[in-house]
Amino acid sequence: MAKDYATLRDPNAEYTMRELSAETMDATGERSGGRDIEITDIQTTMIDGNFPWTLVRVYTDAGVVGTGEAYWGAGVPEVVERMKPFVVGENPLDLDRLFEHLIQKMSGEGSIQGTVVTAISGIEIALHDLAGKVLEVPAYQLLGGKYRDRVRVYCDCHAGDESEPESNADEAERVIEELGYDALKFDLDVPSGYEKDYANRHLRDPEVRHKAEIVRAVTERVGDRADAAFDCHWTFSAGSAKRLAREIEDLDVWWLEDPVPPENHDVQRGVTQHTTTPIAAGENVYRKHGHRRLLEEQAVDIIAPDLPKVGGMRETRKIADMADTYYVPVAMHNVASPVATMASAHVATAIPNSLAVEFHSYELDWWNDLYEGEDVIQEGYIEIPEEPGLGISLDMDAVEAHMVDGETLFDEA
Ligand code: MG
Repeated sequence: MAKDYATLRDPNAEYTMRELSAETMDATGERSGGRDIEITDIQTTMIDGNFPWTLVRVYTDAGVVGTGEAYWGAGVPEVVERMKPFVVGENPLDLDRLFEHLIQKMSGEGSIQGTVVTAISGIEIALHDLAGKVLEVPAYQLLGGKYRDRVRVYCDCHAGDESEPESNADEAERVIEELGYDALKFDLDVPSGYEKDYANRHLRDPEVRHKAEIVRAVTERVGDRADAAFDCHWTFSAGSAKRLAREIEDLDVWWLEDPVPPENHDVQRGVTQHTTTPIAAGENVYRKHGHRRLLEEQAVDIIAPDLPKVGGMRETRKIADMADTYYVPVAMHNVASPVATMASAHVATAIPNSLAVEFHSYELDWWNDLYEGEDVIQEGYIEIPEEPGLGISLDMDAVEAHMVDGETLFDEA
């Protein structure tokens, strides 16, 4: 017997995407719960830091403003502008729904990964700052509360001569003694003094031994005072990565990061399962879906999402929860301004499995000028603020002084 398709679906009905706007959520047209507030505008300002930092501001008819940040810069302000009609008029307190709403609305333009997800991340962080201010709670409270009063921060370090093992050890010692950190990271994708064809990713044996010497110099010099991780930036072949990871197994390595290119999770898993050296990856994949296979297939020992790139605060929390079901800790990648650094700290206190949050601007002497008050990183830790929202207030004069050429400053409120 033929199916009566008319009873399954009205053939005259226009196809509509799963619509997550407030209007369809509430058939009466009334906003629920007396939360009489709506988004009126979104603006961006890009800062010329050691990376381009796109700050995102969400404005409301209640006069309350939230500030977020999106990773990197190129194209992000344009995508934020493109999404403005999808959020203006919406209730900013519906954090989860608005994120999914933007993912749905931008699906044709590519909301699986890339600039669109980055731009959504900036809005999502701003919404957490805003919702915290409206509800008068710190942002971490919106994510489930605190596990810790302060969050450990690791310092990304650069030696004077990065190819010289003792130069790396000297810098490790300086950062510990002068800046107070007890957690560090150095690059291992540095020249090893041998002619090579970088395109084939292969490491000759002397190169493997040279990189191991850098690891040895740092860990033997400061291993009693600090944890030290090492980043390879997706540089090596599968076989070379395995040899390098094995070569440093007896050294006190916090983790070895991104030893192989990020696209092929089978290779990532192969390297991780070949060695007892802890392997970290994750900064180059997007959303919880991008991290799913890395975790489900136990392809990483440590997961390293970048919060203002991966989807924002709740998405990072969801990734952390997924990681926790595999007993995997989270070391958040972070090259951001104080805004997204603080957003990362709020998530890091709200998840059980936080290992540390990265700080990547120790050579930039005006990073702390961008906000009012005391330095947020003290002796290698961030004390979680108890003020509503992210608990960080921009110094608008400093922001204006460090804008990318041609940028305009967003409105104060
Ligand atoms: Mg890295």
